[in-house]
Amino acid sequence: MWPRRVAVLSVHTSPLEQPGTGDAGGMNVYITHTATEMARRGISVEVFTRATSSDQPPAAELAPGVLVRHIPAGPFEPLARDELPAQLCAFTSGVLRTEAFHEPGYYDLIHSHYWLSGQVGWLARDRWGVPLVHTAHTLAKVKNAALADGDKPEPRTRVIGEEQVVAEADCLVANTSVEAGQLVGLYGADPNAVRTVSPGVDVERFTPGPRADARRRIGVPADAIVLAFVGRIQPLKAPDVLLRAAARLLERQPELAGRLVVLVVGGPSGNGLEQPRALRDLAVSLGIEKQTVFLPPQPGEELATVYRAADVVAVPSYNESFGLVALEAQACGTPVVAAEVGGLPVAVAHRESGLLVPSHADDDWAAALADVALRPGLREALAVNAVRHARRFSWSRTTDALLSTYAAAADSFSALRSEVAV
Ligand code: UDP
Repeated sequence: MWPRRVAVLSVHTSPLEQPGTGDAGGMNVYITHTATEMARRGISVEVFTRATSSDQPPAAELAPGVLVRHIPAGPFEPLARDELPAQLCAFTSGVLRTEAFHEPGYYDLIHSHYWLSGQVGWLARDRWGVPLVHTAHTLAKVKNAALADGDKPEPRTRVIGEEQVVAEADCLVANTSVEAGQLVGLYGADPNAVRTVSPGVDVERFTPGPRADARRRIGVPADAIVLAFVGRIQPLKAPDVLLRAAARLLERQPELAGRLVVLVVGGPSGNGLEQPRALRDLAVSLGIEKQTVFLPPQPGEELATVYRAADVVAVPSYNESFGLVALEAQACGTPVVAAEVGGLPVAVAHRESGLLVPSHADDDWAAALADVALRPGLREALAVNAVRHARRFSWSRTTDALLSTYAAAADSFSALRSEVAV
């Protein structure tokens, strides 16, 4: 049976934030769309997130039937992720108190996102006697195995915290079968507790549209060759790989200098090298500062315009549990060149809707980008298939799969409780 009221835990970032900078990214988009779809099906969803400003109301409506609750825990300001474990006790207390104001059994399922929320969910599950479904979104052991140059390894606290949540959750939702295998192989998850649910794409917002119009809207010449990066600027996402590849392309084909545009859309995330300042400096040192355009994080329709304006969208990440940007670009009819890591081989169909590159080497990336951007026949074929491929995914389908996961989790949870009672 479907739940009536779901408590969604999102400690470190709110679905009300603009994704594409700081800690706001695919997880925020995932929560927004699945919560909204659940509410459309008559399920009430409350998302608990940490209050980051004293101006925030205790609760705000995200969409009809979806409430975001701001829980005071620590200072009213954004905190780095590694400062958040110290605030989990206060956060958990706020979540438990909220429930205590209602009749007993108010929430009938908890869905926690990211390990920090899993730690909260595990205690709330024990107190409320309801199932805990958990989605990791990223895993420290996987990230640490493929660190970008200059990136800091994830701390042991996180690794242990994730192991605990994996052991405690009643059901684990993985974005792809690759992630499901990592949960079992690297974290010792019970295979029967893991379900694979593909994320989706907003098929109404991300649609193909005239490239010339899109280019006019963002001020790019109609005959430009546009290579785009969209996402949080951090070493893991490797926007520097795109810049280096673009520079290599210009070395090989200097006649493109007047037409090439490298569009980098997104804001800083984390500290140090990943700041856009460092990326601007890199563009200067590679001699492509004239070709490189930086845009701040773009909301909704503006982002669709960016995808439509591009000849190719590059996703050179060192790891991605899925890669929503890849799916959104394809839904707009733009082929993607992506690193062959994590969930990207699911998000991008190699040689059908884009190309997967098995390395991060400049030469390999320059060749793949040139293949797509400079061979109109190939680009057009990939573009047609890209739309078809992206349409295999939708938030409505993701929500259907999540709801059947919730129903299965609730069934095994009550079966387990009756066994214990006997
Ligand atoms: N995004 C956005 N505006 C931007 C850049 C990114 O709204 O300027 C959104 C984008 O649409 C996507 C999400 O941020 O849905 C990024 O998700 P992805 O899975 O690609 O990466 P993550 O942030 O989860 O690592």
